[in-house]
Amino acid sequence: MKDSKGLINIEQFNDIIDILNPCMDNYLYIMDIQNDYYSISESAVERFKIPAPQFSHANDMFHKFVHPDDIPMLSDDLDQIMSELKEEHNLQYRWLDKNDNPIWINCRGRVIFEENMPKYLVGCINEIGRTQKADNDTGLLKESSLQHELESESSKKLSGFLLRLGIDNFKEINENRGIEYGDMILKKTAECIQAVTLPDQKTYKLIADEFLIVDMTGRSVEKAQMQYELIRQNIQHFIESNSYDAFYTISGGIISLDDISEQTFSNLMKLSEFALSVAKRGQKNTCYSYVNDDYRAFLRRKSLINTLRHSVHHNFQGFITYYQPIMNIKEQRLTGAETLLRFYSEETGMVSPVEFIPLLEETGLIIPVGKWVISQAMSACKELQKTIPDFTVSINISYIQVLKSNVLNDILKGLKKYHLAPTSIQIELTESGLLESDKSFINFRTGLHDNGIPLSLDDFGTGYSNFHYLNTLNPRTIKIDRSFTLKALDNDYDYNLLHHMADITRDINSKLCIEGIETLQELNKICRMEPDYIQGYYFGKPCPLDQFIEDFVTNK
Ligand code: C2E
Ligand code: MG
Ligand code: MG
Repeated sequence: MKDSKGLINIEQFNDIIDILNPCMDNYLYIMDIQNDYYSISESAVERFKIPAPQFSHANDMFHKFVHPDDIPMLSDDLDQIMSELKEEHNLQYRWLDKNDNPIWINCRGRVIFEENMPKYLVGCINEIGRTQKADNDTGLLKESSLQHELESESSKKLSGFLLRLGIDNFKEINENRGIEYGDMILKKTAECIQAVTLPDQKTYKLIADEFLIVDMTGRSVEKAQMQYELIRQNIQHFIESNSYDAFYTISGGIISLDDISEQTFSNLMKLSEFALSVAKRGQKNTCYSYVNDDYRAFLRRKSLINTLRHSVHHNFQGFITYYQPIMNIKEQRLTGAETLLRFYSEETGMVSPVEFIPLLEETGLIIPVGKWVISQAMSACKELQKTIPDFTVSINISYIQVLKSNVLNDILKGLKKYHLAPTSIQIELTESGLLESDKSFINFRTGLHDNGIPLSLDDFGTGYSNFHYLNTLNPRTIKIDRSFTLKALDNDYDYNLLHHMADITRDINSKLCIEGIETLQELNKICRMEPDYIQGYYFGKPCPLDQFIEDFVTNK
């Protein structure tokens, strides 16, 4: 316990404050606890709604410049000092600046005793915003303050929720209306959020357009969802009262603290960021509550992308092309195969193309991988034509390849390299995602046609099958997807529909290939509609080239 005996008196301390004031960003203060008298640096009076550098009735005067919501917390702390329960004061709370804006401050001080009674509280105040811990535009604390708070609570198991909020397409607001307008939107959004923040919750301003409501009082995810809805309504009201001058929406991601075992600052930030990103990835203007399985799937996806990228950079190690027989039913013989890509790695095991093709498309890796598939398929075709001279190999091509690379050139180069006739291959394009009016697509389609390379329309019957495509594309073959085949095998309506499609195919001089035939019974039923080709497990599953040659060429 330090006694004031031998220390300087309050007048001398005031002189020191005056001397140091021009040299400091922070504000020095002394409070005479027993006489309720307060003295602070002149610069604080210039910035905040503080009546004078020195004043009496300090506890009453605090009401003039301390944020009303924070008065109870401050009074409580000062009471503890008066009652000798504490000798140190360390509080983060808000003062009001000259324009009534809340400014976060960190007030630290120590108690000096006189005759064993607390006499003075002496210390220093700094603006948290100046040390990047608060955002003065919105009057909210920043991420680093949350970190500070969570670290000080690290021994406790937290219960409650984090609701992370992000303005949808905020970049566009800034770009279209300017940064100052964007700042106004941030400020208004902060007000909409604070209006529903309960006294025992805290709101933080995170990077860019994001906010975080922290509830450590055990409230449920359902309560967080309700709070999100209220925020959405508040924003809607603001937009209406602002005559739709700005229109924007907000998305939210919730994590339940009770469900998270690793409650470190970095883990909580990571998971809340993930939750918000899921909401934003969808149609936006919505709220998503964190589910562990979703996060695991997200991590698997991320790790799979890394593995795929690594493989592409290491000579396509792990990729292998499989071949599935396509039977010419009329001639009762094998005349072709579809090239189907596989991927294997030790970390991931065997991965289905249904999972990895979309990732290759998303990352653009489909372009190098697709090129590699073309080359593998053509090399296989060359090999197979040694035994079956009219053998054709089908190659699946993604629209990303068509739109973002010169895939036609890759195909033509391959044909030249392997001395193949253009009719040795068939290019399979899926019905869904067809961009018939896109310039790159039109060039590709005309390029195939002009070079005599046949096109197959894959997955027919899965999307909004549009007979108009048939006319535009003029495909050599129409491939019926297994899901449609199954329906046709199951009910008369779809069987008749497929039967009619077989007739239409003949009328437009295309060939019909039915996919997904697994049993003799299915084969017999489907053959009644006289398709040209059948591809299915009944004749053979996709397999590596060596095995394909052994099973379907050499031993047949
Ligand atoms: P797809 O092009 O429609 O290929 C036919 C799919 O049906 C293949 O699945 C094949 O294994 C499966 N299938 C064939 N017959 C049967 C059967 O009787 N029963 C069952 N249950 N399934 C059968 P897979 O190999 O898993 O490929 C899935 C899809 O991945 C392909 O559908 C294709 O869209 C895509 N894909 C595969 N390889 C490539 C590629 O190299 N490039 C691109 N862009 N996509 C590819
Ligand atoms: Mg296909
Ligand atoms: Mg198909």
